[in-house]
Amino acid sequence: MAQVKKAIKYVYYFGGGKADGNESMKNLLGGKGANLAEMAGHPNLRLPVPPGFTITTEVCTAYYKNKKKYPAELQGQVQSALAAVEKEMAKKFGDASNPLLVSVRSGARRSMPGMMETVLDIGLNEKTILGVIQQSGDERFAYDAYRRLIMMYADVVMEKAGGIEPKNGKGIRKVLDEKLEKVKSKQGYQFDTDIKVPELKALVKDFKATVLKVLGKPFPDDPYEQLWGSVGAVFGSWSGKRAIEYRRIEKIPDEWGTAVTVQAMVFGNMGDTSATGVAFTRNPGTGENKFYGEYLLNAQGEDVVAGIRTPAPVNDYSKNDQSKHLPSLEETMPEIYKQLFEIQNRLERHYKDMQDIEFTIEKGKLFMLQCRVGKRNGIAAVKVASDMYNEKLIDAKTAIMRVAPNQLVELLLPMLDPEVQKVTKPVAKGLPAGPGGAKGRVVFSSADAVEWAGKGEKVILVREETSPEDVDGMHKAQAILTTKGGMTSHAALVARGWGKCCIVGCADIEIHSETKSFKANDGTYIKEGDWLSLDGTRGLVYTGSMALVDIDLDDNAAYRNLMKLVNKERTMKVRTNAETPEDAKQALKFGAEGIGLFRTEHMFYGEGSEQPLSLLRKMILSKTEGERRQALKELYVFVKKDIKATMEVMNGYPVTIRLLDPPLHEFVPHDVAKLHELSKELHISMNMLRRRVLALHENNPMLGHRGVRLGVSYPEITEMQVRAILEAAAELTKAGKKVLPEIMVPVTCTVNELSHQKVIVDRVYREVCEKMKVKKIPYLYGTMIEIPRAALRADHMAEVADFFSFGTNDLTQMSFGFSRDDIGGFLPQYMDLKVLNDDPFQTIDQAGVGELVRIGVDRGRSTKPNLKVGICGEHGGDPESVKFFHRTGMNYVSCSPFRVPIALLAAAQAAIEFGKGK
Ligand code: ADP
Ligand code: MG
Ligand code: MG
Repeated sequence: MAQVKKAIKYVYYFGGGKADGNESMKNLLGGKGANLAEMAGHPNLRLPVPPGFTITTEVCTAYYKNKKKYPAELQGQVQSALAAVEKEMAKKFGDASNPLLVSVRSGARRSMPGMMETVLDIGLNEKTILGVIQQSGDERFAYDAYRRLIMMYADVVMEKAGGIEPKNGKGIRKVLDEKLEKVKSKQGYQFDTDIKVPELKALVKDFKATVLKVLGKPFPDDPYEQLWGSVGAVFGSWSGKRAIEYRRIEKIPDEWGTAVTVQAMVFGNMGDTSATGVAFTRNPGTGENKFYGEYLLNAQGEDVVAGIRTPAPVNDYSKNDQSKHLPSLEETMPEIYKQLFEIQNRLERHYKDMQDIEFTIEKGKLFMLQCRVGKRNGIAAVKVASDMYNEKLIDAKTAIMRVAPNQLVELLLPMLDPEVQKVTKPVAKGLPAGPGGAKGRVVFSSADAVEWAGKGEKVILVREETSPEDVDGMHKAQAILTTKGGMTSHAALVARGWGKCCIVGCADIEIHSETKSFKANDGTYIKEGDWLSLDGTRGLVYTGSMALVDIDLDDNAAYRNLMKLVNKERTMKVRTNAETPEDAKQALKFGAEGIGLFRTEHMFYGEGSEQPLSLLRKMILSKTEGERRQALKELYVFVKKDIKATMEVMNGYPVTIRLLDPPLHEFVPHDVAKLHELSKELHISMNMLRRRVLALHENNPMLGHRGVRLGVSYPEITEMQVRAILEAAAELTKAGKKVLPEIMVPVTCTVNELSHQKVIVDRVYREVCEKMKVKKIPYLYGTMIEIPRAALRADHMAEVADFFSFGTNDLTQMSFGFSRDDIGGFLPQYMDLKVLNDDPFQTIDQAGVGELVRIGVDRGRSTKPNLKVGICGEHGGDPESVKFFHRTGMNYVSCSPFRVPIALLAAAQAAIEFGKGK
């Protein structure tokens, strides 16, 4: 007997106040399908959603596994779901007198704006259109829908999914679009909506003929062929170039697949009591708790997003410079507005997060077509999280989890210098779609943006509007400027997601793509390569390269509120890597609780380094210990002053000072002219100098005579530094200041090195106490753990060290055997081929290097349970790495001042996700 297998459910129905699925089923139904089910079926919502059904992501996966064939049961399940839709709508798909039209919509687990294709008005043909006209009494609308269907179908299904390469790069959509534009310009029409019935009829005929001619196949008249063709195209688009590109940037796995939703059409293009729109429950640009949106009368689907006409505001609040003269929805359809407002409120309370919604009004009746968690920039994310916590909509933990740590970067984004702005006239004004300031050289295509950026140029991508094909170039550009489109256009959406400076709808400029230039209304002429500066917060465009300045976080109440919650939740401390009083002050303002890495050698680089550097060189090139000691004695004054200034600012917070780390040859010049100078300065003959410099040469300096090895070879170098640290500390203490220096020995691999240096430290300590007439100077003695052996021998290292600081940059270099400075030669290829998934210098390799860290922490603490442990590599500012370090039980991470807020937030999120640390 045949076994009865329960059929797998591939199709989920929604409509009429019921739904098979719900919001929690995103993995199966995609974001769009799951939320449509939730809006249609959840007892708290039961919103007016046109009925439809969702074909699961499992079908997509099966389709690709099974040589692009559908599971056998699919056809039948689709048929019965379609029957249910027909019943609900009291129409019949393909029927000549009362036809049902549907849309076919894609939806991945995570929204990929504009990546996948939608086909509207499916089911129209020469016969059914007569039924549509009869039912609607609106011939214009029917032919408008028909021409849209042909254009979308030819583009999405026949050309793109059919794998047809457009001739001369001009796709069928563009070809048909030009025909539409020609009709408009011939008749002197401004808008699509001006086109009359006879012209639409002629267009439809022309479209069909053109499709046949250009694509070599007729537009299919069979509604079912249209339906299945569209379903196949959605699944096909999952492996399209743009979708793959987007997934690569957003790190979305290829295996996820997309769902397909088939839904009864409602029509926003049935005259002036119909409309379509997009809205946010809060302002996605600022986070302000105000309903914000745009709509277009007598329009369908993508019209709002595509920037075909300037969308009108839903209410006064949503007005901007381009739309302020247009009547708001609240004015034109007050009842509908009220209903929409109530629904958006209900949606936000239900989802407890800001929602991005799509709606259509058909002859004075409102329909909801989509909702999802709204993308927002970092500033809005902080504001929304903080406000929703204050409104008691969400708890502290949820508020903290709502902001991605890297989004905080946007709050620290530089802005155009307001002083310069005050006295400079912008050449154009557009809509502020992505905040912050940016400057760069103008390019007019995504390809150019990629190419120029590849050569290290900062570029601003200027386009009429962007499409998903532009994503790569948009990503590489400093900022994006478009002349068309509104706040919900593709460019605005994508830029907002990335937190990129962006201005859209800048109608003041006109692009001439043939000459790669644009002209502003005021006559300014800008060509490729010229500099532009953008104020994305206000939508202002300036010529030239304007100075950028940092903003003050203290002015941001929402940020302060959120950080209060963060500081209550986190258990790991955050320090900073800093060597100057200015950096230290900046870091303190950001919330740093100490310095995790003060590099003594910093004083030999850059501004003001001439004198100390010259003394250091004298020391390095001395013949005898006596000479060396003399040089060190003079150098000591500088070192002490330098350390003291920063320690004073840190006012009792621990300051970890690393003893001299780089190999000495790094400090001597190698070109002849400089050597001549030095020979005069140090009174050493050129011959002798050459010989000494040569003696310093190493074949592999990264693994050379550096770090503690210098201290062992030249104990007097350690001695001088320790004396400077302890005397600075004693002087500050005497002056009534609090200090806590931590002396850190770099590049150790055995405890014997630590013991060797400890003898010096102990002796100098006694001498300083005596000299300064103090009984005690607070300090700790510890080591970097940056050589794999040191991690493995951590139990021994901890016998002498009071603290460990993991130097994960070097630990990564030495664990992988990769030189960080030379990794560019092969890392990109490694990432492309997925030999490595991440750059181990950006985010810690948890499996390998992380294992050494774990071993180091555990073994160290097995000797000294209270061993203080931290990390001071670049990884200290990478959220994923910070979360990992929390899990290893570290006391703190240390990062550059501007990463401190990010590390603080990541530490709090780690405590929420993985439990509190010690
Ligand atoms: P995207 O994923 O690009 O947002 P959608 O599937 O949301 O694509 O479709 C784009 C637009 O098409 C929607 O915003 C909506 O305006 C319109 N649309 C989709 N399905 C329907 C429908 N059944 N009735 C009316 N309009 C629809
Ligand atoms: Mg949509
Ligand atoms: Mg190091």
